[in-house]
Amino acid sequence: MTGWAGSELLGHLETGIHVGHWRSPAEPRTLAVTSPATGAEIATVADAREADARAALDTAVAAMAGWSATSPIARADLLMAAYARVLEVADDLAVVICAETGKTLAEAKGEVAYGAQYLRWYAEEAVRLGGRIATSPDGSTDIVVERGPVGPCLLITPWNFPFAMVTRKVAPALAAGNTVILKPSELTPLSAYVLVHVLLEVGVPAGVVSLLTTTRPAEISEPLLSDARLRKVSFTGSTGVGRLLHEQASAHFAKTSLELGGDAPLLVFDDADVDRAVEGIMLAKFRNSGQSCVAANRIYLQRSIAGPVVDKLAERIDALRVDDGFADGADVGAVIDERAQAKCAQIVDTAVAAGGTVRARSSVPSTGSFVPATLVVDVPLESPLRDQEIFGPIAIVSIFDDEDEVISAANNTSYGLASYVFTQDIDRASRVGRAIDAGMVGINTGLISNVAAPFGGVKDSGVGREGGAEGIEEYQNLRYLSVVRG
Ligand code: NAD
Repeated sequence: MTGWAGSELLGHLETGIHVGHWRSPAEPRTLAVTSPATGAEIATVADAREADARAALDTAVAAMAGWSATSPIARADLLMAAYARVLEVADDLAVVICAETGKTLAEAKGEVAYGAQYLRWYAEEAVRLGGRIATSPDGSTDIVVERGPVGPCLLITPWNFPFAMVTRKVAPALAAGNTVILKPSELTPLSAYVLVHVLLEVGVPAGVVSLLTTTRPAEISEPLLSDARLRKVSFTGSTGVGRLLHEQASAHFAKTSLELGGDAPLLVFDDADVDRAVEGIMLAKFRNSGQSCVAANRIYLQRSIAGPVVDKLAERIDALRVDDGFADGADVGAVIDERAQAKCAQIVDTAVAAGGTVRARSSVPSTGSFVPATLVVDVPLESPLRDQEIFGPIAIVSIFDDEDEVISAANNTSYGLASYVFTQDIDRASRVGRAIDAGMVGINTGLISNVAAPFGGVKDSGVGREGGAEGIEEYQNLRYLSVVRG
């Protein structure tokens, strides 16, 4: 834990709630943040309740008029300054992320770089808010369509990318002129604290960003969504909680973005480049210890290429070092907690009971929430694991014979977030890429997240998009002015 001990950052953080200013929650409770790698407590922060949520909404409502009236370029400058400041504290922030999530320090650094890009991208988009002018069909009227801020937003984020999932919401919300109440995961609140400190330090006005951490998320979200002044909820997390928030948001028709679970199929056709496919699988499966909504959940290999792909995969997986994220040479860190660890063991058992064979399994440290990187092959196409997010470093491989069969298997899920296709046949790439019912398709790549692209899903994977030019529209309302020509 040398990296952690060396971090200067945490000692300088306020750890209360932020509602126009830093203070303790109305009832002075705290929640403990622990390291998944060691089980040790690394910090305590505020544990907010309903009264704090109401205070945050009052604050966000009061700040809305002033913030939405700032010029787009002023908001852009603040986001760009935040981007620059995040890069200055990048090493310390990576240590915080590594400690609270258990991911490797290299992955934590990658997350800082990726998350920071949203600040920069939406600084750039803040001055391109869109709109159009048209002439009515009879020529008598100008139709002016403009995009304005939606109003106070509630932003709820998960633990797997505790910094990037926050910037992906906060940056477009602020760029569009909204005030926000941020509620990060109780398991990983620390990187959100760092971001709020950065935003305040660079001059984002008090009240524009509130921060609430809590062990009782429903006691924050329910009162906020039952208040008509809250105009938007953006949530990233599990499908069950997303469904609940969607229902609650309907009380006053708050605008809703839901980035939910995934069950990504990864298809390797017999004309694929073997090395590229193996590299893609390693990235799409083992990045972040497999705890990603876009992780390859079901890997389908065409029969004649399966042998060489499996051999190379087994070699790579056996060689993976699963270890404390701060350890030199760690490839795969801890999973988030013991519950996740137990669920992974159960997934391997289910895959084996269905006819699968464990072909590779890495070693793990004896203590901490670690899961061996595992390869299970020959799992039937119609797997009992269908619809189950693995969320761990376990690759489940099935064999297929033809295109129609694998497309049907790939689409046989209630989710529709990411998917991956490996082939060197451009016609097949185009055909299969469009036949898979998912919001995102990676062609010959295992890495699809990109700040400039619309990230999101269909079916039970949610509604709305984050990133790209589309991401800011989720935080805007349309206004149409009918201007009669004189
Ligand atoms: P989760 O749903 O348990 O928690 C997510 C957030 O919701 C946390 O902040 C939590 O405190 C809050 N929450 C929990 N219960 C709530 C309630 N009743 N009311 C209001 N808020 C509540 O999910 P998680 O375990 O933190 O994250 C993992 C899930 O997130 C996976 O399903 C993963 O696929 C999904 N995810 C999706 C994306 C995406 O972009 N689609 C990205 C990352 C993670």
